[in-house]
Amino acid sequence: MKAKPEQQRPHTLDECRRCDLWRNATQPVGGLGARHAKLMLVGEQPGDQEDLSGKPFVGPAGDLLDEALEAAGIDRRQVYITNAVKHFKWEPRGKRRMHKTPAQKEVAACHYWLEAELESVAPDVIVALGATALKSILQSGSVALKDYMGQAVERDGRWIIATYHPAYALRVPSREARAAARQAIVDALLEAKGLL
Ligand code: SF4
Repeated sequence: MKAKPEQQRPHTLDECRRCDLWRNATQPVGGLGARHAKLMLVGEQPGDQEDLSGKPFVGPAGDLLDEALEAAGIDRRQVYITNAVKHFKWEPRGKRRMHKTPAQKEVAACHYWLEAELESVAPDVIVALGATALKSILQSGSVALKDYMGQAVERDGRWIIATYHPAYALRVPSREARAAARQAIVDALLEAKGLL
């Protein structure tokens, strides 16, 4: 749904009505981390635990991200971590709230907030964790993660590196694929570290 004119420039995440995702979420989840971090990590959207806690990457995917950061020798306190979409999109399955991928129009609506974070934090390097993050960062709904995986591209004076979302590395069925996805995330973080 197109945002009404008076809703197009909200001052806070709490008052944002730029898309309908606020309706079923507990709260918006903004970014967290060093105010002027040189490295920004961007995920897709808050998960169930993030929606409840109000903090990004605190659930199982956050644990995996912590492991990957440690493996890459990056202190989480030195980076800024956020999501492309600030409200949790989900659908009920029994008593559980199951993640639902945000639509491109929702990603585009929420780019407003990512842009504000990019302006404020001004990172030198951005790691896109998954396709939704990459689409938001590049402001294109047609980019494919596989075309950008693991290779740094320069946009507007910043480096962008794309890799899997940690949740993907948790859910792929085979042990080998999970290990490969985890390693790809570590490799992307190492590459990002090398560019700082
Ligand atoms: S998902 Fe983003 S654009 Fe949509 S209501 Fe929430 S903060 Fe606003």
